[in-house]
Amino acid sequence: MFLEYTFNPPPPPQQHHSLSQAREEERRENYAQLVMTDGHDLVPNPEPVDCRICYVDLQPGEGVLLRECLHCFCR
Ligand SMILES: [Zn+2]
Repeated sequence: MFLEYTFNPPPPPQQHHSLSQAREEERRENYAQLVMTDGHDLVPNPEPVDCRICYVDLQPGEGVLLRECLHCFCR
């Protein structure tokens, strides 16, 4: 099965009275994060990885993740 890693951010959260305030905020935060991530080609690696180039163990945030191919490596 072909896995499509690119995705479109959901439409901005709509005010909806059936959603609790907490859920509403969570949706807004997720959306803001998606928008932020979408503006960069490189994002910090979300989980520990081995650098493919120099085989160093990287803690989350120490390396970068290529959004195009999801390869991780040190900065
Ligand atoms: Zn490296």
